[in-house]
Amino acid sequence: MQKKKILLIGTGGTIASEIGEGGLAPELTSEQLLRHIPDISEICEVECVQLFSLDSTNIQPKHWARVAGAIRARYREFDGFVVSHGTDTMAYTAAGLSYLIQGSPKPIVLTGAQKPIGFETTDSKQNLRDALTVASSGEMAGVVLVFNGKIIMGTRARKTRSKSFEAFSSINYPLLGMVQDGRIIRYIRPESRAVPQFYDTVNPKVALMKLIPGADCDVAAYLLERNDALIIESFGVGGLPTYKAGDYYETVKAGLEAGKTVVMTTQVENEGSDLSVYHVGTNIKRNLPILEAYDMTSEAVCAKLMWILAQTTDRAWVEELFYTPVACDILMGR
Ligand code: ASP
Repeated sequence: MQKKKILLIGTGGTIASEIGEGGLAPELTSEQLLRHIPDISEICEVECVQLFSLDSTNIQPKHWARVAGAIRARYREFDGFVVSHGTDTMAYTAAGLSYLIQGSPKPIVLTGAQKPIGFETTDSKQNLRDALTVASSGEMAGVVLVFNGKIIMGTRARKTRSKSFEAFSSINYPLLGMVQDGRIIRYIRPESRAVPQFYDTVNPKVALMKLIPGADCDVAAYLLERNDALIIESFGVGGLPTYKAGDYYETVKAGLEAGKTVVMTTQVENEGSDLSVYHVGTNIKRNLPILEAYDMTSEAVCAKLMWILAQTTDRAWVEELFYTPVACDILMGR
């Protein structure tokens, strides 16, 4: 049988880092990464491209569009794609790519590592090998993240550990599968279309604000003034403070009247928001045209708003797109 052809796209991150004077910095290209796993040629045929070499702290939404553009340009030539990426913002890029490339029948796999590929103890080789295995297996479709043996939906990933190899979790959604000793155990196959739908622009004017007890609403006013959308990470199932320095109701109302989008979400990692439970939530939900994240991750909410607001600012259309599931990003709601 002919081996599958995979495009390996390098973007930087710890996986490609070497130690210099100021600490770890991404130096290696995807071609150099591949040399560390020579036996991969038994599984697939890999071509390498290097788009940039960044610590993912410096990756911006415009870089997601570049990755999506690189995949689009060579989509027909390959059976699957692997993007090697820093772990710190990999969940955001995975979400971003899930909106920029929708319904792909071919797998687009993000991976990276907590320890550089040149270190004696490293998760790099395993993760890269697993990602290439998933990309060439024909078992998966769409944007997924492969890390420490887990296969996670691109819209559901979150970095939940800053140091251990077990760095990523799937939030409010089951794992798609596992990779064990080079074998894929698939639980769910994401839905796909015959031909993917590509988008090439994002609107980065989206801000996210985490509430803390006693927080002054001036911060929300400032962020609303400078952005097209504000996501408020509230407490529990969600709600807005009503104490004096925190007259969020009026602040949010003014932002909405100025045509901004406001989304309420929760800082609690699991189970999502539900503004219909408490007074502090029902009051705003009933009276203001705010949106609610329900079970979506904040990473997915950010990326989805950036994708939506690049197409429209019409409130009804924004709402329609926001609540329409893309790559299983939202299951609860309306
Ligand atoms: N700071 C690194 C990055 O995100 C961390 C990593 O890759 O693990 O690029």
